[in-house]
Amino acid sequence: MNGQPNAVPVAHADHGVPDGALPVAPAAGRGLYPVYENFHSWQGEGDFMGKSAYFIRLFGCPVRCEWCDSRGTWDLAEAPSEIPRIQPARLAALARESRAEFVVVTGGEPAIHDLEPLAEALSGVLPMHIETSGAFPLRLGMGAESAWVTLSPKRNALALRENLLRADEIKLVISSPADLPFWHGVLRQSFGPRFRLRARSIWLHPEWSRREDARLLAAINRWVLHCSAPYRVGWQLHKCYNVDPPPPIRGCRGQGAHRG
Ligand code: SF4
Repeated sequence: MNGQPNAVPVAHADHGVPDGALPVAPAAGRGLYPVYENFHSWQGEGDFMGKSAYFIRLFGCPVRCEWCDSRGTWDLAEAPSEIPRIQPARLAALARESRAEFVVVTGGEPAIHDLEPLAEALSGVLPMHIETSGAFPLRLGMGAESAWVTLSPKRNALALRENLLRADEIKLVISSPADLPFWHGVLRQSFGPRFRLRARSIWLHPEWSRREDARLLAAINRWVLHCSAPYRVGWQLHKCYNVDPPPPIRGCRGQGAHRG
């Protein structure tokens, strides 16, 4: 939004430094979030697929996956020139007005931000869901137990053990058949051969650019038939429906506040 006092000049900040020195988080301070986009849609993946949801996509991710489908949240070549900062109470009000069933806090990597103020603002308003790589400690305060945690670990920034244990569901992006035994090995190594997790579902999503790769789909199919629960065949249904808004345009200011 033009002239918005709380806008972050992205060109002067690096939100992808892997050592935790992420200027946007301390700069945002407690209670102001850099919002890449926020919108009402429905959850297209996982246990809550098809349910009305209000999405808050926060800016910044140090994980930098090659196939990331939200590069504008961390790649300055694709990011808008400014990211608005929005108060948690405002975000909670927008979510309530949308009449969604729950709020999905995603990114980017939301766990690089202190999520406690947002959890406080959403408490008693709508359930809070977090989508995280699990590579960073979750700061949720009073929302630590009640939040629904979707953990999508990445090979280039493995999830913390505490986050794997806390996750309510796990989502694995499969870009090669070799990813299946790799992730199975990670879970067995962390939790033993009969790993028991809080998560009742481990979703296997074909990496979207390879969704028509017959060899990859066959490998996922065989894996679920052979290993059974908690593995599940996954899909990103919202992409088939083409319902999410286009990302903020490079060179424009962030549009989160506009959608508000
Ligand atoms: S962790 Fe998620 S947001 Fe970050 S680079 Fe990977 S896919 Fe993109």
